[in-house]
Formats: sequence, C-alpha cells, structure tokens
Amino acid sequence: MQHNWSKYVRWIIVFLIACTVIGLVFDEPLYGLTAGLLAYLWWTLAQAKRLYHWLGNPGGNDEAPQSIGLWGDIFDGLHKLHQTHLRTQDKLRAQINRVQESTNAMRDGVIMTDSRGAMEWWNGSAEHLLGFRRSSDQGQFIHNLIRNPAFKAYFDSRDYREPLELNSPARPHIRLQIQISLFGDDDRLIVAKDVTRLYQLEQMRRDFVGNVSHEMRTPLTVISGYLETLVDNADDLPPKWRRAITTMAQQSSRMEALITDLILLSKIETGEQTISDAVTDVGALINQICHDARALSGEQGHEFRISIAERHLLRGDESQLRSAFSNLIFNAVKYTPAGGQITITWNTDREGAHLSVKDTGIGIDPVHIPRLTERFYRADPSRHKETGGTGLGLAIVKHVLLNHDGRLEIRSRIGDGSEFICHFPRERLAERLPETAT
Ligand code: ADP
Repeated sequence: MQHNWSKYVRWIIVFLIACTVIGLVFDEPLYGLTAGLLAYLWWTLAQAKRLYHWLGNPGGNDEAPQSIGLWGDIFDGLHKLHQTHLRTQDKLRAQINRVQESTNAMRDGVIMTDSRGAMEWWNGSAEHLLGFRRSSDQGQFIHNLIRNPAFKAYFDSRDYREPLELNSPARPHIRLQIQISLFGDDDRLIVAKDVTRLYQLEQMRRDFVGNVSHEMRTPLTVISGYLETLVDNADDLPPKWRRAITTMAQQSSRMEALITDLILLSKIETGEQTISDAVTDVGALINQICHDARALSGEQGHEFRISIAERHLLRGDESQLRSAFSNLIFNAVKYTPAGGQITITWNTDREGAHLSVKDTGIGIDPVHIPRLTERFYRADPSRHKETGGTGLGLAIVKHVLLNHDGRLEIRSRIGDGSEFICHFPRERLAERLPETAT
C-alpha cells in the first residue's frame, strides 16, 4: 500500500506538470495548472459521490463501484471488506437458524424475555405448552400471558435456585415446571418442562397412602377398642394371655398413631400453600402445647422455659401449625433425659418470625441432620421403640413449614442437645388488633 501511495503521488505530480506544460504551450502555465487541479478535484468528487451512494445502499448493489488508481484501490478494499462481512453474517445467520431449529425441536418450552418480561423469542413447544401465539404475542409481557401470582413473584424474585410448578394457563391439565436463568443484559431464559406424568404419579402415591390409611383406621379402631377392654379386664384373663394382650394393645395404639400421622401428612402434602387470611396466636398455641408436653414429661420433671414475643400473630392454618410445633416440643421431651431443660422461644426480627425449640438432650450426629425430615428416617433406630415415635414427625414439620413459606433449621451435636428453629418470612406476620374496651 505504502508503495502504491508514492506511485499515486507521483502520478498526480506528473499529471499536474503535464497540465502546466500544456498551459506553457499556450503561454498560460498557471491556467494549465489550475485546469489540472480543477479536473483532479472534479474527478475526486465524482468518485466520492459514487462511494457515498454505494455506502448509503450497499445491499442494493453488492458490487462496489469500479475505478482506477487510488480510488480503484479504495473501492477494491471496501468490496473485499463488504464480502467478508456478508460471509460472516451468513455464517452467523446459519448458526442462529441451527440453534433456533434445535431449540424448536426440544420438547421443553423455551422463552427469551428482557429484564422486564417482554417476550422476544420462544420455540414451538412454548406455543403448545403455554398457548403463546407468534402473530400477536411478540413484545407482550409474559406476566400478562401467564397470569399467576406465584409466577410473577418467582420472576421478580431473581432467586431461581429452585424451579416453580404450576398448571399451564392454556391447558390446565398440563403441569409445568418452570426454571428461569439470567443471561446477557439481565435478560431471562425461561424453560417450561411438562411434568404432568410425574405430578400424576406423585398425586397417585399420596392418594394411595391417604386412602389406605383411611381404610385401615376403622378396623384398627375396632381392634384397639376390644384390646383396651380386654386390658381393662386383664385380671379376668388367664395369666398366659395377659402379657400377649397388653403387647397387642400397645402395638395397636402405635399403629393408630402411625395411621393418624400418615393421614395428617397426606392432608398437609396435598393441601396447596395456605394463603388463608386466618391468623394464629402462636404464643397461646405454644402455651397449650407446653401444657400437654408437661403431662408427657410426667415424672421425668423436665424444666420448661418459655419466652414469647407477644407482638405479632402468624398468618396460617392453626391446626397445621399445632401439629408442627407439638412434634418439635414432644420430640424435645422424648429425646431429653429426665431433669433436662427445654427452652421454647418465639420472637420476631427484621427477617421474620422464629420459633426455636432447644433441649439439653442426647443430640444428633450432624451426618444425620440433612436427612432427618425424610419419612421414617431415624438418627438412632434402636431408640424408636423406647420413644414410641412414628418416624413421621419431622416430615410433617417440613411440609407444614413449606405450606407457610417457612423453613426448618436444625442445630445439634451428639451429647450437646439440639435446637430446631422454624423460620417464617415477614410477609407471614400480622399485627395483633388492639383489645377493644368493654
Ligand atoms: P420419631 O417419631 O422417630 O421421633 P421424627 O420424625 O419426629 O420421628 O424424628 C426423626 C428422628 O430425628 C428421630 O428418630 C430422632 O432420631 C431425631 N430427633 C428428632 N428430634 C430430636 C431431638 N430433639 N433430639 C434428638 N434427636 C431428635
């Protein structure tokens, strides 16, 4: 290029000298030079005009204008650049088409929105699963098409560690699992998976457990009733039957407790999240449960310390909360040796409300803690006969807390006692109404 540049400069000088010489022939070298300069200026402007028009509309004519000399090289260079750009564009377009085709072939619905939820692109499955229409929904806000408060809250939360499950707005029999990911400039990639089959299977499992438990309850109540009558009249029985009847009565009451817990768990599991307006006076509830816990403790003489921040009430289902809290408090009694301390604290802070049940009991090896809320999981299986537990208590607690947007925290070390803390979000708190004077 450097080489060509000096060649062009030489050519211009030669041209101008030639014009001056022609001017000399007519005795007017200055006119000749001026005419040459003007001719050169006119030619340059003409080339610049062609370039200007081509740049204004390069798509209309792929070929760059042709010329000679410096302008010829400029046009050639631009033409090459333009061709490379077109090729890159074609490659990119082909890649985008491929990605879109493969995403279209996916069975999961895929939707791209901007940070506010305006829909930019979605695949065919999203149209089928969510009922979007390409012709009319482009640019629409996704919240207007998926009108579900849980979805709006999930979209706005920016916390997408857990997926969200909901019924399809267009086909209510389809159960969808929605997972959002952030990408680009705070944009959202939304994947909707059809989990109807899994959901139905899970529903069937729950119904089955619920139905079997219900069916078993009546015959078991009859058997227990007769066994209790026999135990009450044990003195009339032959001695060899007495032990057998007493053991049978104990086992049938264990089975009754198990069935009651199974029915309760299946009810809590199948119940949708409680958004009820009912409020529970947790302080009063704890006092009632502690009254029963003292009776359970009996001669073991556990020391109960209760601290209740009276200010707030909790929005939620009282009977579910009663089951959860009584499981925690009764466990503290069961797993704390006689004379131990049980401390129950109900307080609120900026994050929400917290119920802590702390004991000075046998404690739990931390390896068991992540699995404690599984059904029938026991940290120490050899003890469960002694305590008479059903193995479902903490599973019930977990589901009740899920239904109340809460979570369970467990802190424990072997021999160091345990602390079970139920955390509830602030939105679950309600102000206590001032007492009306009578
Ligand atoms: P269970 O009916 O066996 O008590 P839970 O679901 O209530 O069943 O508890 C599960 C397991 O967690 C118990 O078997 C026990 O090993 C352990 N656990 C629960 N609460 C306590 C506690 N306060 N102290 C020590 N271990 C506990």
